[in-house]
Amino acid sequence: MTTTTSTMHEIFERAHRVTPGGVNSPVRAFGSVGGDPRFIASARGPYVTDVEGREYVDLVMSWGPALLGHAAPEVVAAVQEAAARGLSFGAPTVAEVELAEAVRARVPAAEKVRFVSTGTEATMTAVRLARGATGRDLVVKFAGCYHGHVDALLADAGSGVATFGLPGSAGVTAASAAETIVVPYNDLAALEAVFAERGDDIAAVIAEASPANMGVVPPRPGFNAAIRRLTTEHRALFILDEVLTGFRVGPAGWWGLDGVARDGGVSATGSEAYTPDLFAFGKVVGGGMPLAGLGGRAALMDLLSPSGPVYQAGTLSGNPLATAAGLATLRLADDAVYARVDEAARVIGDAVGAALDAEGVPHRVQRAGNLFSVMFGETAARDGVHSYADAQAQDTFRHPPFFHAMLDAGVALPPSVFEAWFLSAAHDDAAVNRILEALPAAAQAAAA
Ligand code: PLP
Repeated sequence: MTTTTSTMHEIFERAHRVTPGGVNSPVRAFGSVGGDPRFIASARGPYVTDVEGREYVDLVMSWGPALLGHAAPEVVAAVQEAAARGLSFGAPTVAEVELAEAVRARVPAAEKVRFVSTGTEATMTAVRLARGATGRDLVVKFAGCYHGHVDALLADAGSGVATFGLPGSAGVTAASAAETIVVPYNDLAALEAVFAERGDDIAAVIAEASPANMGVVPPRPGFNAAIRRLTTEHRALFILDEVLTGFRVGPAGWWGLDGVARDGGVSATGSEAYTPDLFAFGKVVGGGMPLAGLGGRAALMDLLSPSGPVYQAGTLSGNPLATAAGLATLRLADDAVYARVDEAARVIGDAVGAALDAEGVPHRVQRAGNLFSVMFGETAARDGVHSYADAQAQDTFRHPPFFHAMLDAGVALPPSVFEAWFLSAAHDDAAVNRILEALPAAAQAAAA
């Protein structure tokens, strides 16, 4: 069942000799699905091509950044033009100002933006800023939410930490772990209890805007608004991590759907409106290049160096190539792009559900805007998955055969049941049909 070919196997062995686990980010190693990872030679539109020349419809999309599809010509051209003018200056550029303006135009509550190179840096800096602003030490996070590999945020994290079944990470000091309080996701009573006990010591609550690193587990309607209420009451900050959802589920990210009131007073998800103090951005905002950022109220953001006492810096922050890719991507991400991604997600999500139903595989397709993932198991099918404990209790053993049947048919799914499926505006009917054709056999494999 696992597709092990000699070329891929040889390269992976060679990689193992020079790189821990043979990869530069753990989930790429196919650890939870078995077999050898595809080494990719190139990608275009909705497709990736491996070093043996085999093409796959891609549902990983670089784990989110490629909203427009791989190697979108306008984005590549923008990067090439920028590269011809110089790779990095270590001095400010106009494009950085334009990208910050583009972010603010879409997410007005991000009044000021600081660009960094990775989502990890964005959340790390947001936590430091929250501590600097409040003079408090404790951070509250939710089990199953992944915010990058920041020491303070690795406890009970999703993504690779979930995929490999780790409680956290070796090397995180007890002191650092002691400053992080982990609360079950979607559990307002537990959050209230933590605030009742430690409210005066809590600098911030950080939450994925809509979690997608334990599979897609949307907040219950009003959950983020409740976090906002509690943090305000206790003078703690609310950090909304939109690294994955930002500019992907809509121009203003999950916040645009969940936190912004439409006519009638409630948001598109039915929540009351709310505004976090800080946002973390990444992935789409860099258009496939290493760029991320944090944004928020101007007075708060001004506490960052050099205008304030909270230190933060980066040799490659706001790098001109990354900035060019991000700007081109945001400018191209119009209503038609989001409509196409939403439609492809709807069609594929429905088809996955129908194929698994046809084989009697208990499951639930969980959605948050155009993000979705499959949760296997009777309980997930009956009650839905609302927390990390629910996500871990699913029939994870069904994912590897499902994954490999799809891969054999030329469709590359995320190699972990705890990750969202990512689509792009380049997933046209031809690409979608290839996915639909692959599903019946994959559903059969999952049923076995
Ligand atoms: N926050 C969320 C919600 C993420 O999904 C990720 C990465 O997947 C990060 C933060 C960390 O971003 P990066 O991998 O760029 O450090």
